[in-house]
Amino acid sequence: MSLGGSIQFGRRRPSKKRSRTLMTISPLRHPAALPEPRRISVFGATGSVGSSTLDLIGRSPERYRIEALTACRNAGLLAEQARRFGARLAVIADPGAYKALRHALSGTGIEIAAGPEALVEAAERSVDWTMAAIVGAAGVPATMAAVRRGGVVAFANKETLVCAGELMAREIARHGATLLPVDSEHSAIFQVLDMRNRSSVDRIILTASGGPFRQADLASMRTVAPEAALAHPTWQMGAKISIDSATMMNKGLEIIEAHYLFQLPEESIEIVVHPQSVIHSMVAYVDGSILAQLGTPDMRTPIAVALAWPDRMAAPVERLDLARVQTLTFEEPDPVRFPALRLAREALRAGGGAPTILNAANEVAVRLFLDRRIGFLDIVETVERTLQAMPHRTIESLEQVFDLDSEARRLAEQLAIR
Ligand code: NAD
Ligand code: MG
Repeated sequence: MSLGGSIQFGRRRPSKKRSRTLMTISPLRHPAALPEPRRISVFGATGSVGSSTLDLIGRSPERYRIEALTACRNAGLLAEQARRFGARLAVIADPGAYKALRHALSGTGIEIAAGPEALVEAAERSVDWTMAAIVGAAGVPATMAAVRRGGVVAFANKETLVCAGELMAREIARHGATLLPVDSEHSAIFQVLDMRNRSSVDRIILTASGGPFRQADLASMRTVAPEAALAHPTWQMGAKISIDSATMMNKGLEIIEAHYLFQLPEESIEIVVHPQSVIHSMVAYVDGSILAQLGTPDMRTPIAVALAWPDRMAAPVERLDLARVQTLTFEEPDPVRFPALRLAREALRAGGGAPTILNAANEVAVRLFLDRRIGFLDIVETVERTLQAMPHRTIESLEQVFDLDSEARRLAEQLAIR
């Protein structure tokens, strides 16, 4: 439903008012023991988070049984993973890669399927633990299906919460699903947040590395090539999130992700740039205490937290040696060179479909930048122009999310290539 008019992005000053009212319902439910061996499905198995998840699983194979593994189009790697982990089902999203997958898995007895609907059917299968690590809004249907099963969902696919956060929160509550954060900042908060005493929380502080252009000037940022933007100083990640880190849209998406995961108002979510990526995030309490979670920047730690939850497991990550690190530094993000943070906050405050538009336009702009069709600074500019040009909507259903997402993608494409 269109409410007419446009939201005015970039005109309002951020509110100084700080709400201390935190909602009491959290999608993060309290531990209930999971059986062993755990039956597990990994969505986005061939990606950076998916491969790290399988790396951990491969170190204690007796503790896990793999039900389904999925990928977009890398049939070769998916088949290799499915064989190695004895998966019952391998799903490839791109139907064009079905033949290659069938060929690679012939004679193994592993079920195969292709296409977006097959991803949803795979997510509907009963398992104890699901890793949602597809990149982008493409992950919404499968993640939503896993949530609707009322299962335990390890949640990496932040774009899903950004583009369908209200609906996801509603479905999590309705179906009694449990979300375990995988994003390193949200895993850090999850580990130090006192869930039983939410009114004692003053705010949370998400750390940001600042990305490869933390110290670059605007003029040089205008002409950076995808290779430079992909070279993240502290984390090894997939292409999309690496570009998001360079524009700092990643931190913007994480503000929205934190809002839905921890039911915190936007004003209670602070960002601080911390180039060493040692402190992964913090919770500030009303008594002045700040609790932080530290570690080396390796996604296998937050994945292990979710995989072993409610227990802990050993992870083969480099141990943090603080004497060697010596110095931890902090600085405020620069709003001029990194306007993505402001846009994300404004979209979250505007609510309704605004975060959906923000996410869709960003996905389009990142792809155009990686294809060398637009410049680096055009990414966030495209997002801002799309947000300004589209009418404000309320979102009541997943169909409305998909419609708005498609419309925002079309418009972003037009606005980006001028
Ligand atoms: P990636 O690009 O390395 O992997 C993405 C996975 O999704 C691959 O398996 C790919 O085949 C699959 N995929 C891509 N498009 C698809 C489509 N249309 N349909 C079905 N499957 C599709 O990405 P990544 O870095 O592993 O990130 C995955 C998610 O986790 C993202 O939402 C990202 O923001 C989040 N995340 C990643 C990291 C990290 O360190 N990589 C950290 C925090 C959060
Ligand atoms: Mg993160």
